[in-house]
Amino acid sequence: MNAQNTIFDRILRGEIPCKKVFEDEHTLAFYDIAPQAPVHVLIIPKTRIVNVASAEAGHTDQLGRVLQTAAHVGRLLGVADSGYRLVFNNGPDGGQSVDYLHCHLLAGRPLAWPPG
Ligand code: AMP
Repeated sequence: MNAQNTIFDRILRGEIPCKKVFEDEHTLAFYDIAPQAPVHVLIIPKTRIVNVASAEAGHTDQLGRVLQTAAHVGRLLGVADSGYRLVFNNGPDGGQSVDYLHCHLLAGRPLAWPPG
């Protein structure tokens, strides 16, 4: 797949729909299409980064904003007190299937540790 044409690039360009939870100038949060928990939201930066491993010093601001938006989404969806897990899958063994950096926010049930 073309590096600029991942499913999340297409969502950002408005070419395919998403169920939006929150958006600001720097980030977009939307529900995962195949939820793995009662609450499963993806948070992406609006500037493309492939994954954590490929992030550079110049991406520090975007990475911080993704985490800030995750915390905001946790509050918006009422799971800040019950808790949630943030996951960045990275590369093949990490289970990354979309080459556009994204943070999974999972909540709404007790989450096992370690993950399988
Ligand atoms: P990862 O495996 O960490 O790369 O996560 C990619 C996530 O994107 C998976 O949890 C998918 O269910 C989710 N996903 C794929 N396509 C869409 C879509 N069109 N809208 C929302 N979530 C999607």
